[in-house]
Amino acid sequence: MYVSDCIDINSAGHLTIGGCDTVELAKEFGTPVYVIDENEIRKNLRTFRDSMNEYYGGNGLAVYASKAFNCKEMCRICAQEGTGIDVVSGGELYTALSVGFPAENIVFHGNNKTYSELCTAVENGVGRIVVDNIDELETLSRIAAEKGKTAGIMFRIKPGIDAHTHDFIKTGQIDSKFGFALETGEAMEAVKKALSTPNVKLRGLHCHIGSQIFDIDPFELAAKVMLELFKAIKDETGVELEELNLGGGFGIKYLESECPKPYGEYMKNVSAVVREYCNKLGIKMPFVLIEPGRSVVGAAGITLYTVGSVKNIPDIRTYVSIDGGMADNPRYALYRADYEIVCANKANEDRSEIVTVAGKCCESGDLIQENTKLQKVERGDILAVLSTGAYNYSMASNYNRIPRPPVVMVKDGEARTVVKRETYEQVSANDI
Ligand SMILES: *Cc1c(COP(=O)(O)O)cnc(C)c1O
Repeated sequence: MYVSDCIDINSAGHLTIGGCDTVELAKEFGTPVYVIDENEIRKNLRTFRDSMNEYYGGNGLAVYASKAFNCKEMCRICAQEGTGIDVVSGGELYTALSVGFPAENIVFHGNNKTYSELCTAVENGVGRIVVDNIDELETLSRIAAEKGKTAGIMFRIKPGIDAHTHDFIKTGQIDSKFGFALETGEAMEAVKKALSTPNVKLRGLHCHIGSQIFDIDPFELAAKVMLELFKAIKDETGVELEELNLGGGFGIKYLESECPKPYGEYMKNVSAVVREYCNKLGIKMPFVLIEPGRSVVGAAGITLYTVGSVKNIPDIRTYVSIDGGMADNPRYALYRADYEIVCANKANEDRSEIVTVAGKCCESGDLIQENTKLQKVERGDILAVLSTGAYNYSMASNYNRIPRPPVVMVKDGEARTVVKRETYEQVSANDI
């Protein structure tokens, strides 16, 4: 039943996370509440950081993709662990800069960054702006010229790889809104143009082939395809690009039945391919970046809810309604995402019932999970949805004017709030 090392059951039969009793956490902080384990986050960051040292001889940087979970404390933790941060909006960039995160180690993504976002990035010296299209290259060059700066850039390339994952989150193929196509020659043209564009420095190329990928093969294939492009660029222009960014997308355990490979294994295998291909193609080993998001925080977090009504529709299904839903976790509504759910105060009991866990929003589609195993529950019980550390808080909305839940960080049995619960005043603060 456990999906990560930080989850356990104590002698009271209650679910624990980071040594904290979840039933006590629900009492102290109220529900719904996101709870995330600091040690687990740091452990994952260190795995990626250390593997850059081990497999690339330190000639690389692990960059946390903060769209999975971004708040000031998370940015501070990344700074302390010596990883980079990848941001995809002015808001994420602002958050990282506001805690003094070193701009050189910020990677800025997005298929349609606004003028003001690009200005902020250039002014603050963001190390790598990942340029998505020619229009953006030209805009960036103008902005950098006006400010008397040179912008460090990478290009986002569509390597055309079909990673085995959910269609909605597959981004490596030609029909994607992200990046330059490889096979049409668009990528090569863009590289040539960048090399003669003033006030930008093309540091290298980037690809991101999708998310929640369990196989190592697509990552290896992406590395090969990208290095062949490096070689073609060298042959056509004489320029050897310095950096290769292989993106993120490493799968995590949502279900008991899933068995992701240890992240070190991806790193080891892919690095072997990179080395072999550089030798074979006669190009120098690039500085390598990776961008894990989900795999850093996903299994480190859970969400706690209180059960309200339990509605049995004979021969059809049982709805267990909770005091949150699609506003704090839209992932089931968006793409039928899988989760394990446990009754936190009955964690020792068998999950003998098959139920549908429904939210409190006014949408029939506001479900967290259908036909899922759960203990026999009643009003007042505490439910824990597991592996909600990624793409839950960061995707939360105020639908139905529901205030966003707080984020509580736990560590060695201690709990502290790192994001406060929103109030109704805050939800309506911008109303005139
Ligand atoms: C979302 C994203 C990531 C992180 O993906 P995960 O599946 O969370 O690891 C990395 N790089 C880019 C460009 C992304 O868009």
